[in-house]
Amino acid sequence: MVTSPDAVDLAVIGAGTAGCALAASLRLGGWSGSLTLLEIGRGPGGRTATRRSRRDPGFALNHGAPLFNISGKPEPKLLTPLHKAGWISPFSGAICSLDGEGRLGGALSDPLSSGATWQGTPQMDHLCRGLLNLAQRNQPTPLRTNTLVRQLEPIGHGEGWILRGSDGQALLRCRWLVLSGTLLASPRCQSVFGWPEVPLQQAAARLGDPQLLQATATLGDITSTASSNLLLTLSEASAGAWRQQPWQLLQFSVAAQQRWGIRRVSQQAMASGRWGVVVESSPAFAAQHMQVFGSRSSAAQLLGAGPDPLAEAQVMQALDQAVQDALQINTAGAERQLMRWGAAFPQTPGLSTELSLCASSRIGFCGDAIAGLGFGRVEGALRSAEALADQIQELSPPSSH
Ligand SMILES: Cc1cc2nc3c(=O)[nH]c(=O)nc-3n(C[C@H](O)[C@H](O)[C@H](O)COP(=O)(O)OP(=O)(O)OC[C@H]3O[C@@H](n4cnc5c(N)ncnc54)[C@H](O)[C@@H]3O)c2cc1C
Repeated sequence: MVTSPDAVDLAVIGAGTAGCALAASLRLGGWSGSLTLLEIGRGPGGRTATRRSRRDPGFALNHGAPLFNISGKPEPKLLTPLHKAGWISPFSGAICSLDGEGRLGGALSDPLSSGATWQGTPQMDHLCRGLLNLAQRNQPTPLRTNTLVRQLEPIGHGEGWILRGSDGQALLRCRWLVLSGTLLASPRCQSVFGWPEVPLQQAAARLGDPQLLQATATLGDITSTASSNLLLTLSEASAGAWRQQPWQLLQFSVAAQQRWGIRRVSQQAMASGRWGVVVESSPAFAAQHMQVFGSRSSAAQLLGAGPDPLAEAQVMQALDQAVQDALQINTAGAERQLMRWGAAFPQTPGLSTELSLCASSRIGFCGDAIAGLGFGRVEGALRSAEALADQIQELSPPSSH
């Protein structure tokens, strides 16, 4: 087993659901190698993160997924320990829908709400916090936050990896590597962030491993839809009309999405009576505003994609006006923030499970972009991580190091 602080048996890039679930699955399965997660964000969660504020401890708003659903059986193994320890609970809010005429109706059956619905408790980021907690049960599993992995450097031919940061400094050496997000494999790192190369493509070309080359090409071809989310924070006094709504999550029908450019709206209670409302744009709205980032997005800041305050204000104003028109509820007095998810939902077909572990190059992939049940959702992120953990257990028992 590798024990140096700068070298580990397994490095996992990304502490979203899949990265955290991989760590938890490995540890619960008895895998005792050294394992470090590296995450560009300020904390774990990825697209199930909760926005928090250092200056305002009571502020907590789920700015990505507001819930998750498990649509298939058997359910992911990690659900039971998470539920038992209180990190997740069945989604308790009412789900309603809005049609193109602005009429409220019952919940629509859509891929994000079929089956059993769950939420992180009390906030969505407790899903990943709980997974990380499970990952610490048998031995430490450190998470390095605010850490962008910018380059992937293979050691020899399948002997491991050196991970490098934004100025080329070595962050970590590892015997095995797992990518839980698609950024390092996707041409969007060139088009959006101006990187000259796609890091995984460069590494795969050096290694010449046909399986990795195929996986890299498939990952690079995966497209995603975006979501521009308007985050509204209301005081107790100004939240009255929102609180009276019969729904916690409101789905917009196709006609309503076309009319208002909104896909869903969720409501969340915060500490000291404050109230949070998250307006998720339609994919079409987000596509029209792809270059506009939220200025407080840590990923955007670390990746160097500068904010444009004027454009940001315009996008927020458009979504704010749309939600007022659609629901006939005033947003006066609300604090506004924008969160732009550039790759909110991957589009099929995704990466086949046969390519999710390239053993000769000692690299694996997990996340919601892996094909299979739950693709593009939290369920898929959990399932892909559990499946990859099983494969790693078989291939890399720590005792053989
Ligand atoms: C607005 C929105 C609403 C959603 N609603 C739902 C819903 O209702 N139900 C549902 O099931 N799903 C929903 N989803 C989808 C769900 O959030 C994702 O399927 C799931 O969170 C994916 O988890 P993941 O671990 O695969 O990826 P991610 O959560 O994206 O995790 C990848 C992590 O890797 C990090 N990372 C990437 N590259 C690097 C790097 N180079 N260096 C360091 N760190 C890196 C990222 O910061 C991120 O934290 C929603 C998503 C969005 C955006």
